[in-house]
Amino acid sequence: MDVTPILEGLNEAQKEAVSASEPALLVLAGAGSGKTRVLVHRIAWLIATQNLSPHSIMAVTFTNKAAHEMKSRVEGLLGRSAANMWIGTFHGLAHRLLRAHCRDAGLPETFQILDSDDQLRVIKRVMKDMSLEESEWPAKQAQWFINKQKDEGRRPKDIRANGDLFTNIHCKVYYQYQQACQTGGLVDFAELLLKAYELLRDNQHLREHYQERFRHLLVDEFQDTNGIQYAWIRLISAHECDITIVGDDDQSIYGWRGAKIENIQRFEREFSGTKTIRLEQNYRSTGSILKAANAVIENNQERMGKNLWTEGNDGEPISLYAAFNEQEEARFIAARIEDWYQQGNAYGDCAILYRSNAQSRVIEEFLIQRQIPYRIYGGLKFFERAEVKDTLAYLRLMYNHQDDAAFERVVNTPARGLGAKSVEKIRELARGNQSTLWEAAWELVEEQALSPKATLALAEFLNLIKFGYEEFHELPLSEQIQMTIEASNLMAMYEKEKGEKALARKENLAELASAAREFDVDDYPELSPMTAFLAHASLEAGDTQADQYEDCVQMMTLHSAKGLEFPLVFIAGMEEKLFPHMMSMDEPDKLEEERRLAYVGITRAMKKLYLLYAEKRRLWGKDTYPAVSRFIREIPAQLKEEVRLNATFSQPVSTRTRAINDAAANDTGFVLGQMVEHAKFGVGVILNFEGEGDRTVAHINFESGESKRLMLSYAKLKPC
Ligand code: ATP
Ligand code: MG
Repeated sequence: MDVTPILEGLNEAQKEAVSASEPALLVLAGAGSGKTRVLVHRIAWLIATQNLSPHSIMAVTFTNKAAHEMKSRVEGLLGRSAANMWIGTFHGLAHRLLRAHCRDAGLPETFQILDSDDQLRVIKRVMKDMSLEESEWPAKQAQWFINKQKDEGRRPKDIRANGDLFTNIHCKVYYQYQQACQTGGLVDFAELLLKAYELLRDNQHLREHYQERFRHLLVDEFQDTNGIQYAWIRLISAHECDITIVGDDDQSIYGWRGAKIENIQRFEREFSGTKTIRLEQNYRSTGSILKAANAVIENNQERMGKNLWTEGNDGEPISLYAAFNEQEEARFIAARIEDWYQQGNAYGDCAILYRSNAQSRVIEEFLIQRQIPYRIYGGLKFFERAEVKDTLAYLRLMYNHQDDAAFERVVNTPARGLGAKSVEKIRELARGNQSTLWEAAWELVEEQALSPKATLALAEFLNLIKFGYEEFHELPLSEQIQMTIEASNLMAMYEKEKGEKALARKENLAELASAAREFDVDDYPELSPMTAFLAHASLEAGDTQADQYEDCVQMMTLHSAKGLEFPLVFIAGMEEKLFPHMMSMDEPDKLEEERRLAYVGITRAMKKLYLLYAEKRRLWGKDTYPAVSRFIREIPAQLKEEVRLNATFSQPVSTRTRAINDAAANDTGFVLGQMVEHAKFGVGVILNFEGEGDRTVAHINFESGESKRLMLSYAKLKPC
C-alpha cells in the first residue's frame, strides 16, 4: 500500500513519531501540537506497513466521541473498515472484555452497569442494613473510599486498617457493597476496570490470548491514567505488544479522581528503551492565545518543561469582560454569539466553558431567551435525567430481575400505592433470605403478607416487568422503549405534570426512543441489542445526546473540554474561589492542578478567546464579591484587552480592579462596568465616577449610542 497519504500533512517530528519502530514510544507535548493526530496516523501506519490486522490494535481514548472520531479517521486514511479495532475509553474496553468473558469474570450474562448515582443508592442501602447513621457515616464518603480503593486495585482483603476506625468501617461497607453488587449482577465504573484487570491477571489462558493478540497498544491523554489503568496497560503490553503513549503533563486534571502525573516518568523508567519524542509546534491557536497559555502555566513549579510555538500570527488579543453579575455575564456571552452567528459562523464552532456545572443554568436561560441552540456535555447528562433513568430502570429490570438498584428506583414510580413501609418489608425479607428484591417481592405477593391493596399493586408491578419482557423483547429497540414508557404509566405521570418541565421530560423520552433508533448495534456484536443499548447509555452518559447533529453552541465544564478545539471560546467565572476553586486554593498541589485546568481551557481556543468575570456572583446561595482570578492576572497585559459594551480599550487589569474597588468603596451602590437602566435613556454601562457622596456623577454609555454624565442622587438608576 502507498503510505504517502499517511505521512502527508505532518511535520518532521510528527512523522518520526508516526513511523517509529521502538517497542515503547512516548510523545510528550503541549496542547494543540498534534498528539492525537499522531496517534491516528500511527494506527493507520502500523496497519499499512506491518500488514497488521486492525484486530491486533488497541487504542485508548479519553471519550467515546474521540473513539468514534479516531475510528472514522483511520478508515479515511486506509480506505477500508476498521470496525474490528479495539478503540475506546478504558471503561468501554474493560466493559467489552467483561462482556466477552463474563463467566470467567464471575458475572452473570445480564450484568448491568451502575452509574455513580445508582452506586450511591446501593451504598446507602447497605449502610442502612449495617445500622450506620448517615449523619455520622455519610454514604458519599463511603462511595469515595470504595472508588479510591478500586482505582488503586485494592479489594477489602488488601486494605490494612491498622486499628483506624474510619478505614475499618469503610472496609466493611466496601465488602457488603460488593456482596450486594454480586447478588444483583451490578458493576460500577471503577469495578469495570478492576474486574477486567483481575480477569486477565488471574486467568493465564485469557491473559496469554490477549497478550498474543494485541501487537500495539496506543494511549491518548496518558497523563490522566490512574493506578489500575496503568496496571492494565502493563499487563496487556507485557510481552510482544508495542506501546505508544501520548500526553502532556501540563494537562493532567484528574488528580482528584486518582490520576497520577508521575505515571509518565514511571513509564519512561519501567518500559526499557523508551523513545521520547517532543512536538513543539502548535497548530491550533493564534500567537496571543498560545502566549497567554504559556504565561499561565509557567507559574507551576512541578513541570517537565516544554516549549510551544506557532507559525501563525498573533491574531486578536484576549478579551476580558467584567460583568456586573452572572446574569450580565450570560447576557454578554449570548450577545457575542449572536454577532458571531450573524457574521456567517456556525454555532457549533463556539464553546462556553466553566469550572462548575452549576454555572450553566444562568447562561442557558439567556441562550434560550435569544433562541440560540446549545448542547451541554456532561453535567446534566441526557442519560442521567430522571425520566430517562426511570425508563432505563424499567428496561434494566426487565432484562435482569436481579438488578436491585433498578428495582428500588421504579417499584413505586409512578406511585402505585406501595408505601415506604411495604418497600421496607421487601428489603427486610430480601436481607433475611439473602435474596434479591425481586425474589422477596414475589414471596410477599404469594404469601399475601402485605395489605391487600399493596399486594395487588406489587403483583401488578411484578407482572408488568415479567410480561413486559416477554412481550417486548423481540421488537426493535425504540419500540421496546416506547412500549415501556406507555405500559409503565411513566408517560401518563408526566402528562399530568404541568408546565415547561413536563414538556421537557416528554421531549426527552421521545429523544430516548430516537437515540435507540440511531444506536449502532455493531459496536457490541456480542450483545443483545437492548443489553448493548443499556450499557451504552451508562457508559456514554454525558457525551451523547440525541440532538448531537444539530448546529449548536457547545457548553461544558473545563474538565470535559480536554482534547477538543473551537474557533471561539468563552471561559465564564474567572474569579478567585470559583476558578481556582475554593477547595483547591490552600494546597499548592491542588492549585497547580487548577492552573493546568486553566491551561487546558485557554488552549481550546483556536482564534478568539473571551475570559469573563463578575463583580458580584451568587455562589452557594450567597451573594459574593469575588476578586479577579489569578489566572487572568498571570496573562501579560499586552495580550489582553478590556471590553466595554460601547467602547474597547486596553487597560491592565490591576488598574481596573483598583478602580472597581475604589468605586465600591465610594458607597454609591454602583460599580464600574455595571449595567444600569434609566427611565429615559434606557440601558447603559457605567464607565466612570466623578465626585463623592450625594454629588457623585456617573459617566454612562447608553446602548442608544448616547453618552451621559448623570448625578446619581437624581438619576434614579436601576441595576439590571
Ligand atoms: P491536546 O493536547 O489539546 O489534546 P493535541 O496535541 O492532541 O492537542 P491535535 O488535536 O492532534 O493536538 O491537533 C491540534 C490541531 O492541529 C488539530 O486541528 C490538528 O488537525 C492540527 N494539526 C496537527 N498537526 C498538524 C500539521 N502538521 N499540520 C496542520 N495541522 C495540524
Ligand atoms: Mg489530543
